Amino acid sequence: MTKLRFSHIAVALVILATATAIMVSAEAPNTSLLDEYKGPYGGVPAFDKMDVASIKPSMEKGMEMGLAEIDAIASNPEPPTFENTILALERSGRPLDRAFSYYGIWRSNMSTPDVREIQAELAPKLSAYSSKIRGNEALFARVRAVYESDTVKKMRPDQQRLVLLTYDSFARNGATLEGDAKARYAEINEKLAELHTKFSNNMLHDEEEYVLYLDENQLGGLSEAFVKSMASAATEREHDGKYAVTNTRSSMDPFLTFSTERDLREKVWRTYYNRGDNGDEYDNNAICAEILQLRNERIHLLGYDNYAQWRLENRMAKTPERAMELLEAVWPAAIARVAEEVADMQEIADAEGAGITIEPWDYRFYAEKVRKAKYDLDSDEVKQYVQLEKLREAMFMVAGELFNFKFTPVPEGKVPVFHPDVKVWEVTDKTSGKLVGLWYLDPYARTGKRSGAWATTYRSYESFDGEKTVLASNNSNFIKGEPGKPVLVSWDDARTFFHEFGHALHYLSMKVEYPTLTGGVRDYTEFQSQLLERWVLTDRVINKYLVHYETGKPIPAELVAKIKNAATFNQGFETTEYLACALMDLIYHTTDPSNLDVDAFEKEQLARLHMPKEIPMRHRSTQFAHIFSGEGYSAGYYGYMWADVLTSDAAEAFASAPGGFYDKDLSKKLVKYLFAAGNSVDPADAYREFRGRDAEIEALMRDRGFPVPAAAN
Ligand SMILES: [Zn+2]
Repeated sequence: MTKLRFSHIAVALVILATATAIMVSAEAPNTSLLDEYKGPYGGVPAFDKMDVASIKPSMEKGMEMGLAEIDAIASNPEPPTFENTILALERSGRPLDRAFSYYGIWRSNMSTPDVREIQAELAPKLSAYSSKIRGNEALFARVRAVYESDTVKKMRPDQQRLVLLTYDSFARNGATLEGDAKARYAEINEKLAELHTKFSNNMLHDEEEYVLYLDENQLGGLSEAFVKSMASAATEREHDGKYAVTNTRSSMDPFLTFSTERDLREKVWRTYYNRGDNGDEYDNNAICAEILQLRNERIHLLGYDNYAQWRLENRMAKTPERAMELLEAVWPAAIARVAEEVADMQEIADAEGAGITIEPWDYRFYAEKVRKAKYDLDSDEVKQYVQLEKLREAMFMVAGELFNFKFTPVPEGKVPVFHPDVKVWEVTDKTSGKLVGLWYLDPYARTGKRSGAWATTYRSYESFDGEKTVLASNNSNFIKGEPGKPVLVSWDDARTFFHEFGHALHYLSMKVEYPTLTGGVRDYTEFQSQLLERWVLTDRVINKYLVHYETGKPIPAELVAKIKNAATFNQGFETTEYLACALMDLIYHTTDPSNLDVDAFEKEQLARLHMPKEIPMRHRSTQFAHIFSGEGYSAGYYGYMWADVLTSDAAEAFASAPGGFYDKDLSKKLVKYLFAAGNSVDPADAYREFRGRDAEIEALMRDRGFPVPAAAN
């Protein structure tokens, strides 16, 4: 496909050149990705004219232009004001933003070895670009002057928040430091980047190097499909005729769930959970300790007591104590449920005459037997009621009811797309008919497209220089069926589809004046999308859209009940393995890391928490890439549960509203406070406006099938 399109462009260029006789130097760098969007709907990306050769020149030129804009702002002879500094920053970097929209498509939707090579080349340049902006002292001096001025205090709350967020993006990253402290700060960052990479590389080594090769007589209990994949994994590693269990989650998990060979299960389990902890040159213990030490030193330079305090300050949770409070409130119920799950499993093992005590490598295996006995859900049966097109229609119905949006297909050819599978809809307000934006959908898997599902924007809402229409997209990896036949989707994928559509609705419904305020807060941005998942199982969706692909009959109530029931299966295990990580993450980042022996500390802390002996941390310290291979989730792993609490609590608000999940008043509040406000309001305040109080954990406990603590509030 890619080839075809490129030859189209080549042909077009030849025609253009001969027709107009304009000579363009063959070496002229193609920077077309920086161009203004042209065409209908306030301009749309020229996805039909993408050329890999334009990536590097466009990105490089875009950075150059961005830095020139920054220099102009920083060296403005006028005294710093909100308009000439903060808003000027909001206006800067537009061409590079546009180039990023295309670059994102190449990286996620249509990657090739060429693109990956360019990515490797661009990554350090992009990081140098943002360091240059953040390290611009003259620029920071102006931002600070505005931040500290009296005029800001008289501005609108969203403008004050914009100033604060802009100031923070510098100050929280070392801009306030001077002299030796500044130099040390930069040195620490460099060293940390090195250690984060080393941590990942060590982990990767242990995942790639430890492979268990099995013979045909060691495959008891394993499915045919899994055995096939093991055989090809062995062949790839030049062990033809053998069966490879690789040291990754996607291999370990099914093996431990289904293998009847207990000693092999133990071996696989030990190898997996010892990644990074083998006492060899790839051991991560010392690296974790050094990372914690350096992070601690760095935030001390900024005047914080501990790393988590610095990290959570601008999150919804605000303090490590509040995040910890949530985790500790759920923990006792989680480990109590583990005890029940283990008892259930022991009973099955005893009845079988297995003569064993349940050990960690038995958990998944016996949990599967419990699942079969108590929660059996036939995924193929469910699939017959879940059709891709109907799901999309259901999403449009929900968006119509809650957001007052109408989706109309854009005629083919009116808006350029990067692949013929991509379809585009026009989104308008149902009442006023006013254009909101476009929604692009790239539904199917193909080579070069990353796995999973995601949402993105090619242009976000803003209104300070004229209102912009939103260009939002959803991307999935559904398997394209035979032409004319409905695409049937698994239950998990259906929920994910709604989830990602939730992100798209968030983009589409945003009503904030400034680009920075469309940004997210880490422990809050997943909440809106998680919440939208809850509409999949509302009656209106069930009765009209979850219908059998042949008979057209709605999914039976009995099957819906099974789906709901299955959601509480194995929650002791899942919640505990997750919570142990979330707790350890916060403990690591609130503890003085001097002379830390990571291995011993992990053991000691888990013992203190009464971690059930049948379950390890989902990611043991030496393999906890979320927090040690970078800082994306460091002191932030709790965020998943934080968002879950909001989701459960908000879902109960709908469940108990007079109009249920389609209650008009509550929908209005939902859109106004939780979606449209973006990051223009503190998330905690926004939630309080919606709910009339803070979120409470009881709803989450009910969702997971845990008893609700009497004293919880
Ligand atoms: Zn999400």
